[in-house]
Amino acid sequence: MQILDKEQLRKNLDEVIWNIERARISVSEHHIVKLVTVAKYTAIENIHTLYELGQRAFGENQVQQLKERMLTLKELPLEWHMIGTLQKNKINNLIDLHPSLMQSLDSIDLAAELNKKLEAKAQTMHCLLQVNSANEKTKSGFLAQHAIDAYQQIKESCPHIALKGIMSIGAHSEDKKVIQKSFETAYHIYDALKKEGATVCSMGMSGDYELAIECGSNLVRVGSALFKSQ
Ligand SMILES: *Cc1c(COP(=O)(O)O)cnc(C)c1O
Repeated sequence: MQILDKEQLRKNLDEVIWNIERARISVSEHHIVKLVTVAKYTAIENIHTLYELGQRAFGENQVQQLKERMLTLKELPLEWHMIGTLQKNKINNLIDLHPSLMQSLDSIDLAAELNKKLEAKAQTMHCLLQVNSANEKTKSGFLAQHAIDAYQQIKESCPHIALKGIMSIGAHSEDKKVIQKSFETAYHIYDALKKEGATVCSMGMSGDYELAIECGSNLVRVGSALFKSQ
């Protein structure tokens, strides 16, 4: 993995922050958006440099990699997010890491198992329900028509899981309208779940974060746009 110099990372980060700024202000001055840097592709040195530039929230999609990086950088005041599919045999490892937010709660089965293991360790975890809003076979998560029921069911039956909202990945398409529709579907679910206490609508990646913000996202997960080398 390539180590980028500070000026390159500064340029990339500035560009992403300005794009976020423009998109969020087009919604409202009061629409606040959080940037989570998806570090999975990048060298740990780049995470350290981004920290020096002011970035604090980082995401990983594998428990093992999350663990290594959290341990190596444990002196820094960083916030870590789990954004990838969680295998059941990794649940205990994840709990012991105390992630700030686990964004990829993608089945009732996983919720039940996670809740059981959290109970055994007398802990709670902040989670987002992953919604497969584009209804794609290749993606995990709850289908749009099941998401609200599933959210309520987990809230009632899993007291060690603190649900904070939803996470969705935009439709895999070249057609902006199709991607937009998937974000709108996810946003409607989030909106309906506000009365259940949902406050986080996580959607938008390097290719579509501005569109996601315009559709109501308040947390974007950006990776490759921050780690380009020119
Ligand atoms: C990799 C990943 C991202 C970031 O992807 P980029 O397109 O590189 O910004 C965001 N969310 C999830 C769930 C990912 O796995």
